[in-house]
Amino acid sequence: MGRVEIKNIELGITANGFRNVLVKRFLSPFKKFSGFLQKSQWWSGERIEEYQLERLKKILKVAYEHTPYYRGLMEVYDVNPYSITSFEDIARLPLLEKEDIRLHHHEMISDAKFYSMLYKCHTSGTSGKPLTLYRDLENVGFEHALLMRQWQWAGLKPNDRYVSIKGDLISEDKTDSGIFWNFSIAENKLYMSSYHLSEKNADHYVRALQKYSPAAIEGYPSSVSALAKFVRDRGIRIPMKAVLTTSETLSPEQRSLMESAFHCRVYDYYGMAERVAAIHTCEEGSYHLIPEYSYVEFVEKDYLSDGYCELVGTSLNNKAMPVIRYRMSDVVKPGEGYCACGREFPVIESIAGRQDDYIVTPSGKLIGRLDHVFKGAENLVEAQLYQPDRENLVLRLVPDKYYDAARDGKMILAKLKQRLGEAMNLEIENVASIPRGGRGKFKAVISKVNGFAY
Ligand SMILES: [Zn+2]
Repeated sequence: MGRVEIKNIELGITANGFRNVLVKRFLSPFKKFSGFLQKSQWWSGERIEEYQLERLKKILKVAYEHTPYYRGLMEVYDVNPYSITSFEDIARLPLLEKEDIRLHHHEMISDAKFYSMLYKCHTSGTSGKPLTLYRDLENVGFEHALLMRQWQWAGLKPNDRYVSIKGDLISEDKTDSGIFWNFSIAENKLYMSSYHLSEKNADHYVRALQKYSPAAIEGYPSSVSALAKFVRDRGIRIPMKAVLTTSETLSPEQRSLMESAFHCRVYDYYGMAERVAAIHTCEEGSYHLIPEYSYVEFVEKDYLSDGYCELVGTSLNNKAMPVIRYRMSDVVKPGEGYCACGREFPVIESIAGRQDDYIVTPSGKLIGRLDHVFKGAENLVEAQLYQPDRENLVLRLVPDKYYDAARDGKMILAKLKQRLGEAMNLEIENVASIPRGGRGKFKAVISKVNGFAY
């Protein structure tokens, strides 16, 4: 097995790594929750629902007793937190919108002294201003335990060494000398830069992967598939136990590219900064909504078709800042029945992404998962659909040297017309690169039109 060179270790990264491990594994109730999550994954559907109702009662009590915002809301909507008997009782509370959190977040933080150890976190994203949210140590421990269970589903062990490629910054001193990563001893983890992935630097990345020989790579689908492309283009394979992807919508093409270059399965998982829903991939390759994490309601809407729903979520594990019936900007298609893995967790057939992943047609229809219009267009390095207004759509293309506008460009336009109709103006814009969004995330679709009815 290869080893990273010692000169790539930075003191700052090391201190940060030790602090992460100390808080997540030792100060938080991580061990208690790990034990719990091992058992709860095999509970019956009925037992899971009982657990969710019990937790909801607790959260509502905390919200009523310790936050002015929810106390006021429960009084107005006549919800008594001490006499909740069903999920319908909770549904009497109104939906919480992003704007409500922005305006009232100070009144939503618990005043209980024992939640004094608060962690602040911010939402990112291309639409709207970021939100500030708080969580407690219990929430930190629960989430870490949950992530470790996702690792276990992927066949990984907590101390397996891995590469993370998720928008971390690397100092210029290093990148100037061809080093695009930092190693964290405490976490046994190599943080790679997702900002320097280019053909020019590809050899450095591939050699580092070969040398480090990780058990897994975890990162944005766009970044891990760029690494996979470098590996494949050199006619080699770097076998691993698993690839874990998160934070962006994963396309079937990215999945197959990663699976072939790294000779393992891709486990895509989904979370969100508001912390009211988590979706993980099991050993059978199914997406599961994690019921111990939050209580999620699926809401059908006229402007969504093919069984896709909006999600409304309530965190079951954050007493520092209860978030109840939060309307997410994410859209998924629920599946039917149970999975062959034996867990009675809800199955999610498909994750369509967030609202700005949708193109809104001039007639008001929302069209998601448009990434497949690029299928077969091999002569593109990257592509992005940008919708400035209802009538116009710009295709930003980064062509490679084999790109032929008359053939490839025409094919993509024809596929888009098929899906979007004739009423929309389509325009191709060739660009040298596509800028990344918050924390270096790549967006395949950016729409400035809000097609969601509020
Ligand atoms: Zn399963």
